[in-house]
Amino acid sequence: MKQYEIYRIILGDDLVHFSDEKSTDFRSAKELLELKPVPGIVIIDGLKGTKTAEELDVLWELVELRGSVEFCYAPIYISHTMHYVDLLVDGVTNHIEERFKEAFAILERGGRTSSDKLADNHNLRLLTYMYARGEEYLLSPICSPFSAWVYSYPEMSLILASASKTSKICKPEDLMGLDSLRSFKLDTEIVMAIKTVVFLEENGYIARATLIDRIRKCPKCKTGHLNYVDLCPNCGSIDFQKKLMIHCFVCGHVAPDSDFKKNMAFVCPKCSSILRHLGSDYDHPLESNECNNCGSKFIEPDIKADCLYCRTRTNPSNLIAANIYSYKLTEKGSAAARTGSMQMELQLFDGQNNINFKFFCNIVEWMREYRKRYPDQVFTLLGIKFSDLYEVEKSLGDELYQKTMDELISRIRSMIRTTDITTSSAPDTFWILMPKTSLENSKVQVERIDLLNNMIDPNSENKIRIIPKCFEIPTTEDDISAEKYLELFSEELDLDMN
Ligand SMILES: [Zn+2]
Ligand SMILES: [Zn+2]
Ligand SMILES: [Zn+2]
Repeated sequence: MKQYEIYRIILGDDLVHFSDEKSTDFRSAKELLELKPVPGIVIIDGLKGTKTAEELDVLWELVELRGSVEFCYAPIYISHTMHYVDLLVDGVTNHIEERFKEAFAILERGGRTSSDKLADNHNLRLLTYMYARGEEYLLSPICSPFSAWVYSYPEMSLILASASKTSKICKPEDLMGLDSLRSFKLDTEIVMAIKTVVFLEENGYIARATLIDRIRKCPKCKTGHLNYVDLCPNCGSIDFQKKLMIHCFVCGHVAPDSDFKKNMAFVCPKCSSILRHLGSDYDHPLESNECNNCGSKFIEPDIKADCLYCRTRTNPSNLIAANIYSYKLTEKGSAAARTGSMQMELQLFDGQNNINFKFFCNIVEWMREYRKRYPDQVFTLLGIKFSDLYEVEKSLGDELYQKTMDELISRIRSMIRTTDITTSSAPDTFWILMPKTSLENSKVQVERIDLLNNMIDPNSENKIRIIPKCFEIPTTEDDISAEKYLELFSEELDLDMN
């Protein structure tokens, strides 16, 4: 079995960690990172963590470590149990040998990933972190009662905490000035972690595993610290009282019983009738609340959810119900961790002429046969590949990216004729089958698509590139399948991209 380095970070004098194995000692994560170490096991020792300040010390060491390429997925242990920190590390141990099996497994799997791609891609870091912990690993939400977001993904928050200065996808300024909530540690990162989870799920890198809980959120600011208040249904005041009410049968007047009391008898303040018998002269109506503000009487107060953060009052039925899940890595997420590349899904074509890839190949086969019999029945395949979508999405931001893509997609769609058939062979690779079109004639289309590259802002450092190219299936070699040809053509598109 491969041996891995053991790094011990000593933050104080309460050393409890013991090991027969050789470990290298450091005074801080910074000191360790300056050595540009190879990935290994880290144990943080020396602090009991009984004071919050000590827990914070450990936390910031973790931020340093998780922020580095070397230790973003590495197994990290602490030697004393600590309330907040326990959730953020792989375990608590004072005898690292006991953890070798799992720690080595993490390092071994982590070693299979593309760690050179991790430097500035924090989504990929998270996927790598999950991948290194094996198929069974679940990214679990933790209830954080002091955070207005109620649930968070602390491991992800930690990875993002290290990244918040440079992260492009989740900008802290997206948070609608919620910085005042920072009184809770890592609050900005908690929001970013939630956004990242949503992003990774929407793009198929992680999938829901278990439904853990359901919370209600303010529809305006999306936080979950709500106070349910009861109000006067007439004027909205919270100042009302439960009172015993009397309903005078003579004139119909309804008022609190104190208004009727007069020298030991009940006298209606409106019609002055003396009310003697409950049931025949008067009764107690259902309206038993009286508003001290507007005087109206009512049976049930209105219930509103008062957001403790933005103070918006919402009908409980209009609150946003949010399901809180744990997540597992998908095939796509695992592939991203291994290859170090994240791909964006793109829906270039739709409609009834857009068919699945296998079926598309069958049609190409059929057209090839047809052309054999009628040599003037030429057809051309136009391939379109998009490059760097993921990077561009990151640098442009959601909104601008979507706008640019919508524009590009609509331009390309407008070039499709009703007799053309389309498909896609990969998330970023698309094909148009153009019947009755020679290779020569299809070049106009290629040029028109190529021109779209000029439409995209050439000054931005990351830009989408569209690579169009047309292909003809040779009339001679019959033994190569259409699918194989498309694979070869696709490789040619890749070559053109570089
Ligand atoms: Zn009122
Ligand atoms: Zn009366
Ligand atoms: Zn709110």
